[in-house]
Amino acid sequence: GASPDVARRVLDDIEAQFRLSKDDLVTITTQFLEDFALGLGEYNHPMAMIPTFVTGVPNGSETGTFLALDLGGTNLRVCEVELLGNHEFVLRQQKYKVSEALKTGEATALFDYLADSVDAFLTEFASAVPSSPTTEQPNPFASPSLAELDPEPAVPLGLTFSFPVEQTALNRGKILTWTKGFAAKNAVGHDVVQLLQDAFNRKHLHVRCVALVNDTVGALLSRAYTSGGCLLGSIFGTGTNGAYVEHVENIRKLGDSPARQNGGYMIVNTEWGAFNNTRTVLPTTPFDNKVDRESINPRLQAYEKFISGMYLGEITRNILLSLIDAAPKPLLFNGRSSSQLNAHYGLDTAIMSEVEEAWETGRVPTVPLTIDSAVRKEGKPAANGLPSADVASKIPDWQSAHFTDVDSLSQDDLARLERIRGIIIQRLGLDAADVSLRDAAIVRWASSLVANRAARLSGCAVAAVLVQTGRAKLGGGFVTDEEKIIVGVDGSLIQHYPNFNTRLRESLRELVGEEVEKKVDIGLAKDGSGVGAALCALQATKQG
Ligand code: ADP
Repeated sequence: GASPDVARRVLDDIEAQFRLSKDDLVTITTQFLEDFALGLGEYNHPMAMIPTFVTGVPNGSETGTFLALDLGGTNLRVCEVELLGNHEFVLRQQKYKVSEALKTGEATALFDYLADSVDAFLTEFASAVPSSPTTEQPNPFASPSLAELDPEPAVPLGLTFSFPVEQTALNRGKILTWTKGFAAKNAVGHDVVQLLQDAFNRKHLHVRCVALVNDTVGALLSRAYTSGGCLLGSIFGTGTNGAYVEHVENIRKLGDSPARQNGGYMIVNTEWGAFNNTRTVLPTTPFDNKVDRESINPRLQAYEKFISGMYLGEITRNILLSLIDAAPKPLLFNGRSSSQLNAHYGLDTAIMSEVEEAWETGRVPTVPLTIDSAVRKEGKPAANGLPSADVASKIPDWQSAHFTDVDSLSQDDLARLERIRGIIIQRLGLDAADVSLRDAAIVRWASSLVANRAARLSGCAVAAVLVQTGRAKLGGGFVTDEEKIIVGVDGSLIQHYPNFNTRLRESLRELVGEEVEKKVDIGLAKDGSGVGAALCALQATKQG
């Protein structure tokens, strides 16, 4: 390999590019607040600040049984949600894979697949809601006119659709753009509820889509249902986004519309994944530029590409490849790669998570990669549901922790590196002879650089919402009377990535001060998209 000095210089240089000072965080958060103001004032800003027409937040006493359909991430989910009215719910769900062909083919094919999935769910799993008419034998003697006179009430369904939509009512919204690898044709510009309802009708399904909700809004509503209130719902999964409770009068782009004249509050879907698409304040490295150039949406969703599960593995892969290819001598894996590592998106963020977990806890977790079948879940979520904070104390000084000098490590650390080495060989399909302990240390270091930056940047978005809603002041110094500021989160990244939540909170503390940070209660919005959609469907049926 290269001399330790050369290696150290290269690694130090990469590390410096990923560092975010407190000043950087403040600059980014300030820009966030400016973008919030722009998006609230006018339509067609990258930070879309979409009014959701959800004007209330549940308190946990709501009841009823609803269907929910969730499209927007790695899987499509169909669920039946029974709200018990005591902050608890019962949920049965089934996940279905969405193929690349469906994601990028004709929209009608995608929506037909959604309808088929709902049909399959009703046939196989749903209990409390009326079963699908297509599962019954048609009555040849029934006259159509009688059937029309006495229709069974259609099963109400809430659609969680986690892409930017310009919503004009609880059950109406035009698709603005696709994100996260979706690019179905003839969908942008169309009403997503209509696209889905047309597919239900084509299949003669007795289901009515009554509400359209973004997954962030779902996270907010579901955390509010279980906790009795919530200010911000946010997602850190395949993508990232947030929705919060805003004064209607601040949503200036609603003009004199009835919604604005009514006053009060409305949930706003920020679409913060598109923050700073011009990248004037985001700390862009060559590794980020490569991710962006090779993505299906170059120059869009800039913030999301620094933060979310879809991209962190890819940024890390780019770092590793640059070290494999380093001249004049390779700095990693003897200069050899593997077909996995060569493949676009070949390094899943879940592998980084596994590597970091092996380092932090000395324990190799089993990453659930399978899709579970219908599960009956008892509602009451854990108070927090996130990885416990005790791991935080074990975070080594991640800066300069790339250990080019492996010889100086303790036996315990060496044992952890040996475990990481095993993960790398297995998950990336590398030749064992090409993976040294030093390589294992470098992979862990690269993972933590990328994830730490993501978590710190995520703290900026949360801080911006706290400042925007008058809960905090940038730089600290103001403390609200409220005992707790409740935040609901969802997504594999924040749920499973070691220390993501802890690092996010550290960044938040730097931005708004410790006293406010301590009041922020970040908890898992359990089954947010399902429960949120059900709560929205409930609101819609009451209004209708
Ligand atoms: P979605 O956001 O699509 O609804 P998830 O919240 O499960 O679904 O997020 C999926 C993303 O999370 C993928 O990009 C995947 O790489 C990443 N991921 C999956 N498991 C883990 C894990 N254990 N740790 C960190 N990231 C993970």
